[in-house]
Amino acid sequence: MKVVKTSPHMKYNNLIAACGMNCGLCIGYLREKKPCGGCFSKVDENKPKYCRSCSIVNCELLAKTESGFCYDCEKYPCTRLKQLDKRYRTKYGMSMIENLNFIKNNGIEKFLLNEETRWTCRKCGKGLSVHRDFCLNCGEKIEK
Ligand SMILES: [Zn+2]
Repeated sequence: MKVVKTSPHMKYNNLIAACGMNCGLCIGYLREKKPCGGCFSKVDENKPKYCRSCSIVNCELLAKTESGFCYDCEKYPCTRLKQLDKRYRTKYGMSMIENLNFIKNNGIEKFLLNEETRWTCRKCGKGLSVHRDFCLNCGEKIEK
């Protein structure tokens, strides 16, 4: 697995997984007890079960890509990614494939900047979770 090099001052630096998921938006990352460090974290025990058995992060073709992102793969977008993408579009109003295409076309830095704007609570300024439709800090309802 490759760690994508980005500006260290950025909030979601090193939190964008190969599939286009921003781990910084995950409820597993944002929880107070035993928070997950994200896909690139070496501490596996705090990772959600779903992520520990993820077939994308352990994909052999992904390991061969130059960028470490799925968009560089010859099979992109593969069935596994499309399934994940569909689940997130339907349940959480976010698309991995859209994220990946944006990164491919505009670069990771611009993506990270956009993510900060998109996922900041307009009321209290704290980071939002893609898995909840309200702000974890102040309870403000989120329009996705
Ligand atoms: Zn808030």
